[in-house]
Amino acid sequence: MSALTTDANLPARRSSAAPGRITTDVLLVGAGVMSATLGTLLKTLQPDWTITVLERLDEPALESSGPWNNAGTGHSALCELNYTPQLADGSVDISKAITVNEQFQLSRQFWAHGIENGVLRDPGSFINPVPHVSFVSGADNIDYLRQRYDALAGHPLFEGLEFIDDRAEFARRLPLMAEGRDESEDVAVSWTDHGTDVDFGALTKQLLGHLASQGADIRYDHHVKNLHRDTDGTWRVKVKDRTQGETLNISARFVFVGAGGGAITLLQKSGIEEIKGFAGFPVSGQFIRCLDETVAAKHEAKVYGMAAVGAPPMSVPHLDTRVIDGQRSLLFGPYAGWTPKFLKEGSFTDLPFSIRPSNIGPMAAVGVTSWSLIKYLVTELAKTRRGKVEALRAFAPLAENDDWEIITAGQRVQVVRKKGRGGALEFGTTVVSSGDGSIAGLLGASPGASTAVSAMLDVLERCFPGQIEGWRPQLKELVPSYGVTLADDPGLLADLRAWTDKTLKLA
Ligand SMILES: Cc1cc2nc3c(=O)[nH]c(=O)nc-3n(C[C@H](O)[C@H](O)[C@H](O)COP(=O)(O)OP(=O)(O)OC[C@H]3O[C@@H](n4cnc5c(N)ncnc54)[C@H](O)[C@@H]3O)c2cc1C
Repeated sequence: MSALTTDANLPARRSSAAPGRITTDVLLVGAGVMSATLGTLLKTLQPDWTITVLERLDEPALESSGPWNNAGTGHSALCELNYTPQLADGSVDISKAITVNEQFQLSRQFWAHGIENGVLRDPGSFINPVPHVSFVSGADNIDYLRQRYDALAGHPLFEGLEFIDDRAEFARRLPLMAEGRDESEDVAVSWTDHGTDVDFGALTKQLLGHLASQGADIRYDHHVKNLHRDTDGTWRVKVKDRTQGETLNISARFVFVGAGGGAITLLQKSGIEEIKGFAGFPVSGQFIRCLDETVAAKHEAKVYGMAAVGAPPMSVPHLDTRVIDGQRSLLFGPYAGWTPKFLKEGSFTDLPFSIRPSNIGPMAAVGVTSWSLIKYLVTELAKTRRGKVEALRAFAPLAENDDWEIITAGQRVQVVRKKGRGGALEFGTTVVSSGDGSIAGLLGASPGASTAVSAMLDVLERCFPGQIEGWRPQLKELVPSYGVTLADDPGLLADLRAWTDKTLKLA
């Protein structure tokens, strides 16, 4: 039975009762983009349900959703080559690219609806049009890029994609990448003007601001320490108020663990069967950034290259235009690092304490089979600041050391899952929910924030089977292509793209 199924029609309960004891219908752990998105969806669908958000830090979006902790790419597979692998027969598989693009269309629609309905304001404060570009050099890679272009160009989701191997045109569109480049080097790019840069931090803050204005109880400096299921089926959650030094007990009918890298720890503490066999492998990262406006003015694109041998897919190098607080700048990276912490502000015991009898097998199996990843991490760790700028010179040959500073990005916790008698390391995101739908959480990091709406719709479907049909008409208003495959309906795709482009000021 779903958590809120039986008593969904009861009058709303207030989220606060006696001191030190709080009851709430919905508890969202963590103030990142996932909780903010789910909270906004639920408040719209079921305004009578009380919602409480608990965040251990003193502000929202200070972990992965913070603008400088991620790359801000509106991932829609327009430029990321890892979504279009080349198969053994030489053909290019575009199925993953189609899925990721469809998922991003849901986010665009949800945000456009938010603008039209006062949930979000000023689209330029969180989303901006920036061309998405794939960049390769060398004959074999150019051949692959051309095949990828041929496979995608006729598809309605990838309309407007161009293939460019003319050196003069390359220099006109990407002056920073052309300046100082060896004339004998063969280069090619695919280009689309439909790409975006997203400030997921600004987006999170606006969504949570709206949620608060609708009566949600949002508490910062509140660290969820433990949770267990009570005999009546509700969740008893132990919380440390870090400013007062007090411990609170919260009773919640539904819990979403939107704790980013910390989600696996809390889901393990919940004791649900479904988390057994899962483990987390943290990969930290750094970017280098250039705030010099004269350099930034020479590059107006997000340019994704090819991954190094052994590199995990989310580590493909990219040179990105960023728009944060109205200021344009450049970001390059990521460079991988390593720490056992599951959050940037986490603890060195996160990884060792997450090892359980149920996941030690999958972890060990991944350790044995992931030598190329380990070798890659060791090489990355050895890179000095000068070495990092050297890597950038494959993109911007004349890059000056002094124009670039190192910044530490957010922590990614990759999913390790039981597979057969061993385990597999995965680079996507996975929703884990209990069989009764009373608790869910999100593991993994990629494609991440861009697909927050799709991931949170998945949570609604899994955890609220009793309500989802009744919610459908409203969901279709929030996200008009909900339940529709846009790839099969080019007319609807064109209409929705025109609407979102106009409302989000992307065209
Ligand atoms: C280097 C890097 C680059 C990325 N680039 C992109 C990109 O270009 N495009 C894209 O779409 N996605 C990208 N991502 C992924 C994206 O940032 C994440 O998927 C997304 O931000 C995750 O949101 P979240 O709300 O789940 O987690 P977070 O934003 O990490 O929020 C989790 C929150 O939970 C809080 N918390 C944790 N434990 C507790 C607890 N016990 N009690 C209370 N609060 C707790 C944390 O403090 C934090 O505020 C990138 C990620 C990284 C790390």
